[in-house]
Amino acid sequence: MSPHARNALPVAIAGGGIGGLACALALAQRGFQSLVLEQAAEFGEAGVGLQVAPNALSVLDALGVGETAKKHALLIERLVMMDAVSGAEVVNVPCGDRFRERFRNPYAVAHRADIHGALLDACRAHELVALRNDCRVKSFDLDDRRVSVLLETGERIAAAAIVGADGVDSAVRRQLLGDGPPLASGAVIYRATIPVFEMPKDLQRPYPTFWAGPGWHVIYYPVRDWTMFNLGGTVVTGERTPGESEDVSQRHVLPLFAGSCATPLRVLRIPKTFRRYSIVHREPVENWSQGPATLLGDAAHPMVQYIAQGAAMALEDAICLAVAAYECDGNFTEAFKRYQDHRTVRAARVQISSSAMDRINHARGIERKVRNALFEGRTAEEFYDRLAWLFTPPSYVKPFKP
Ligand SMILES: Cc1cc2nc3c(=O)[nH]c(=O)nc-3n(C[C@H](O)[C@H](O)[C@H](O)COP(=O)(O)OP(=O)(O)OC[C@H]3O[C@@H](n4cnc5c(N)ncnc54)[C@H](O)[C@@H]3O)c2cc1C
Repeated sequence: MSPHARNALPVAIAGGGIGGLACALALAQRGFQSLVLEQAAEFGEAGVGLQVAPNALSVLDALGVGETAKKHALLIERLVMMDAVSGAEVVNVPCGDRFRERFRNPYAVAHRADIHGALLDACRAHELVALRNDCRVKSFDLDDRRVSVLLETGERIAAAAIVGADGVDSAVRRQLLGDGPPLASGAVIYRATIPVFEMPKDLQRPYPTFWAGPGWHVIYYPVRDWTMFNLGGTVVTGERTPGESEDVSQRHVLPLFAGSCATPLRVLRIPKTFRRYSIVHREPVENWSQGPATLLGDAAHPMVQYIAQGAAMALEDAICLAVAAYECDGNFTEAFKRYQDHRTVRAARVQISSSAMDRINHARGIERKVRNALFEGRTAEEFYDRLAWLFTPPSYVKPFKP
């Protein structure tokens, strides 16, 4: 407990992923102390690649970790969609100077650990952030002014408020909303990494290459200073019950990408094994707070990854929540209402837009031709205009100046 904090009891944050750590850091920068409770034995990120859009980079800048986060990231030249049936280019959005001026930041791809690590180092260095791992939050009791958090071990922690940043299958959400487990989206992803020396030279591009196939898509991009490529192949299976994650062989994976032209298959033939994950999500909700308890990131608004904005939304949530806490002078019940009022519509729009991309990304037959015609001849400025609502950071995303 710090004597310099504005709050006597800490804000308990369940989950030390990108959202939970960003929340702790944003609160600390506005004078509030927090305690991050992470169930894993170590703080870290599962998975490899992350696309970091300009709105997410603006949050990292506002939190003072933008430079560190960008150090090992690749600031990409363009966003590209290829038609995986014909091999033709469908979309090519330049992300150079004009893009960077318009959205105040570049578009980056990064290793997840680099983004999470930048936040973790800043949290460790701040006296108002306490971090505990091996702590699984089970439930909590609330009254109007304080919270008692119960861990799986039976330990109880007194807090001023609780933020559920505990991911897609959130224990805090279970108690707040009681809306059951997340839903299978009907798609699965096969993920792998490829060491750079195994990637054909002509396919090593300084941007994410996205191949849109009939009922599937493939994306790959370099991470960690071009030492490896992150590869993900998503297949629409229609499965309605999320399966367990498992390792599967290349022999199992290749036939799922039927109807493909040569290039995506060249890439999919490189890894010998893939990790298979069911993609889960939820429908948007209007309320995710009760008194001094709220949700943030995937716990609040999990989405399919088709516009690569889940982590970006968690980051924006974090700043918004801390600004609201500051404006409400540490009255967390009021602050969480204000935070939610600012965030629900934007987060829901991103959830809905992500789901809608299923039809574009996985179009087949006549829909594929319609998609290609839709994008034909669109100028860079026209793309920017359509992306402005998403990539322009909301007004509350700015550095804190006391
Ligand atoms: C295939 C795929 C690709 C994606 N690509 C992108 C992308 O390119 N760009 C982007 O912006 N987003 C992307 N996303 C989304 C992004 O990964 C998530 O939205 C983001 O990681 C959410 O962060 P979070 O902190 O809310 O949750 P999480 O990262 O899930 O963190 C939750 C943390 O809580 C901990 N936890 C869970 N339960 C408890 C408990 N009871 N007690 C204590 N701790 C607990 C977990 O161990 C974990 O550390 C992608 C998602 C997928 C599935």
